[in-house]
Amino acid sequence: MKIGIDLGGSHIGLGVIENKKIIEKFEKDFSNEDKAHIVEVIENYITEKVNELRNKYDIESIGIAVPGSVQNGIISKMVNLGITNYNIKQNLEEKLNISIHVRNDAKCACLAEFNNIVKNDENLRSANIVFLSIGTGIGGGVIYNGKLLEGHNFDGYEIGHMVIKESGLPCKCGKYGCFERYGSILEYKNKVKQRLNIPQEVHGDALREILDNNRQEILDINNQYISNLALGISNLINIFEPDMVILGGGFSHFSYMFKDKILDTLINSSLLFNRRENFDLRIAELGNDAGIVGATF
Ligand SMILES: [Zn+2]
Repeated sequence: MKIGIDLGGSHIGLGVIENKKIIEKFEKDFSNEDKAHIVEVIENYITEKVNELRNKYDIESIGIAVPGSVQNGIISKMVNLGITNYNIKQNLEEKLNISIHVRNDAKCACLAEFNNIVKNDENLRSANIVFLSIGTGIGGGVIYNGKLLEGHNFDGYEIGHMVIKESGLPCKCGKYGCFERYGSILEYKNKVKQRLNIPQEVHGDALREILDNNRQEILDINNQYISNLALGISNLINIFEPDMVILGGGFSHFSYMFKDKILDTLINSSLLFNRRENFDLRIAELGNDAGIVGATF
């Protein structure tokens, strides 16, 4: 058995995994914790939980999905938590005396979603897939011939930081005009909140209700968002010519508003170098569990 951990911008998801399935799952929200001690909070929670679970299960290894760029178990950049050069692998291996593997969270989710697809259709075992995790930012993973593509010296596949507008909006990474400044759910939500004068934080069903009740007032925002996503996705299709593109992350909850229109834009515009009559654009199926499961692959 393995333990899969998904370290998010404001929470930790942790699960016991057997045969690529979650047996037991735990969550901790740390959005109200002091950012200055965030590493301590993260490590204390993981250490306590893992030790507790080891009394119950035979745990052979741990996989951690992190929202950032990873090299040899060191997180070089985790912009949302303000952490740089954090050797989470070494720190936790010393505390827990167990083998730990660390990988970018979007790549973990990509692996889990791909595994789920192959489980339902063996013919896709050697497929080419582009996966996008669209949430606070945009993360990505690419499967080529059934294998996850990974960088050597650097992590790579930072799809969210592909520039889609020269001299565009500033991004946390230091560049301007990055895809995630135009295509993330966070940016979309901020625009809608500003237009409709919603000062407070809204999530889930409440947000969906607002979007559904104000379709006319936010029509231009929706159309621009669809156009931004279609542009970014078309660049990826033109480069990788994948058999399918999977859209995951928080976007999944709003995909009913956008998916068909993105597909329509891809097919009926000149965005695709190789024009197609149809394209396999899918929505991720595993939700928040994808990171926890995929971390153990
Ligand atoms: Zn960027």
